[in-house]
Amino acid sequence: MTESIYDVLIVGGGPAGLTAGLYTSRAQLKTILVERMILGGQVMTTTKVENYPGFPGGIDGPDLMVRFQEHCQEFGLEVVTGEVEGLVDEGATKLVTVDGKPIRTRAVIITTGAEPRKLNVPGETQFVGRGVSYCATCDGAFFRNVPVAIIGGGDTAAEEALFLCRFASKVYLIHRRDELRATKVLQTRIFANEKIETVWDSTVAEVIGDHTGVTHLNLTNLKDGSSRNLAVNGMFVAIGVTPKAHFLAEVLKLDGEGYILTDADCRTSMPGVFAAGDVRKKILKQIATAVGDGAVAAIVTEKYLDEFA
Ligand code: NAP
Repeated sequence: MTESIYDVLIVGGGPAGLTAGLYTSRAQLKTILVERMILGGQVMTTTKVENYPGFPGGIDGPDLMVRFQEHCQEFGLEVVTGEVEGLVDEGATKLVTVDGKPIRTRAVIITTGAEPRKLNVPGETQFVGRGVSYCATCDGAFFRNVPVAIIGGGDTAAEEALFLCRFASKVYLIHRRDELRATKVLQTRIFANEKIETVWDSTVAEVIGDHTGVTHLNLTNLKDGSSRNLAVNGMFVAIGVTPKAHFLAEVLKLDGEGYILTDADCRTSMPGVFAAGDVRKKILKQIATAVGDGAVAAIVTEKYLDEFA
């Protein structure tokens, strides 16, 4: 039996991966998309997406990603569940190891995205699932009529603070500076919401709890060095993300933070391997830019395969 060689193997099934898969399968390239968990990526944990064009009034993240999947199915994209463990450059083909099994492909598009960053303070790991969460959309409903805190000052923290107001009795937005990084439209909503109290210039020094879960956060005021305990039953961490590219550190050029370095057309340091979306070093990480990246990576991959044919 002859080994089946794919034209394109896509690693990761978020907006960038599904867009790349849509383009390459529509171009009739033999494509396989490998996703470790569920299709949709970080958008699956987003409540309402208001800035993706074409959906006036917004659309729920999971609903948007179901549309992406259905669109890919129209063009017969092959999707498998598995974890990519290795990538070897064999020249005209690449050897990709998925759950210990080899798959040969002529080109690879990496779209593994990013995952929530941790605070790395005492008590954080101990109370994961018992008050500490990295996804308000997933876990917010467990915190009905109790006070919670959200850590961070970006768009994610602002959106999640607003979402948590549906359930919690009080939402403390704890930020290490005295102004938010979040877009103005979100800031206006935050400041107008009576359930949200901003705690400026502060960081969490320790997560404190007992057999019931989290009970307090020990906060440090960075301006005057003072310390205090804040009574909350939940802590949601929204301090940004780290790229999921460590498994490629030996074979691709990454920057100091672990993002894959590419040129403007998504080419990585290995010929025939492209990167798109949040895993790639770039200035703006949005669904719209991930989709743009996925399209560019797919078209540049097609050109690369034509040259090799
Ligand atoms: P982000 O924009 O990088 O913001 C991270 C926030 O966490 C910043 O306010 C940062 O403080 C703070 N922070 C970082 N490390 C910290 C630490 N160790 N301790 C305490 N605070 C810390 O991350 P994000 O909000 O997840 O957003 C990521 C990207 O996705 C952004 O480009 C964002 O625009 C985009 N996004 C967009 C939307 C939307 O458009 N609807 C929604 C969500 C995310 P400083 O401000 O002091 O640096």
